[in-house]
Amino acid sequence: MHKSYGALEVLKGVSLTARRGDVVSLIGSSGSGKSTLLRCANLLEDSQEGEILFKGEAVHWRGSGLGRRPGDAKQVLRIRTNLSMVFQQFNLWSHMTILQNVMEAPVTVLGRDRAEVEEKARGYLAKVGIGDKADAWPAQLSGGQQQRAAIARALCMEPEALLFDEPTSALDPELEQEVVKVIKDLAAEGRTMLLVTHDMRLAADVSDEVVFLHRGLIEEQGAPDALFGSPGSERLRQFLSATT
Ligand code: ATP
Ligand code: MG
Repeated sequence: MHKSYGALEVLKGVSLTARRGDVVSLIGSSGSGKSTLLRCANLLEDSQEGEILFKGEAVHWRGSGLGRRPGDAKQVLRIRTNLSMVFQQFNLWSHMTILQNVMEAPVTVLGRDRAEVEEKARGYLAKVGIGDKADAWPAQLSGGQQQRAAIARALCMEPEALLFDEPTSALDPELEQEVVKVIKDLAAEGRTMLLVTHDMRLAADVSDEVVFLHRGLIEEQGAPDALFGSPGSERLRQFLSATT
């Protein structure tokens, strides 16, 4: 994957594979390209060069431009539906109740049956520990509860994989742990996840693989024990000593 914003080359040739059931964590300094990589992966951003394969299906060819090929819109929707994203700033719709937030996309985007979606949505809210908040408004929830609602919303799309972009970094430490617990539970269930995080403990606990990005390139990657236990590159050593 190569991605530039104007003259600024943000991703300089990054290749990444997540197998079904893997948790792959992306770590790296601010500006290293972690969010950009995630956004390119679920087609929120176009990229200049590279290829995305989803379950073996080529999604995006160099220079094709998203949306230009016939049939693209459907494919883009299918990929986005299957790679559900959770953002740092929850992004709940403030004019909808928590239940409506969770139900909105499956009903309006995917055209699923409202009653079935509601049952599932209530199930996912219970799963993340806020089953009693279904009829509350987002503003009535704590940050940790809002983020768990956002995770329930992502789950309600029944995606193949979940993409998390710093899901805990807008939260106070005590609220962070509620969300960490949900992410750990999802990892233990064998969900496929791409996780951008500044929380090295979380990355060490849940990841099958950790990827250290530095200025748009993968500087080091490997199993968490190896990567955190005996970092090979000086840059990773510096990064880890600065963040832990
Ligand atoms: P952080 O840890 O701070 O979230 P990051 O690793 O997620 O950082 P990115 O958000 O991917 O970093 O940004 C990588 C680089 O791309 C930065 O230099 C950023 O300023 C630039 N960038 C990101 N989005 C845009 C955009 N829409 N337009 C122009 N430049 C952008
Ligand atoms: Mg980011």
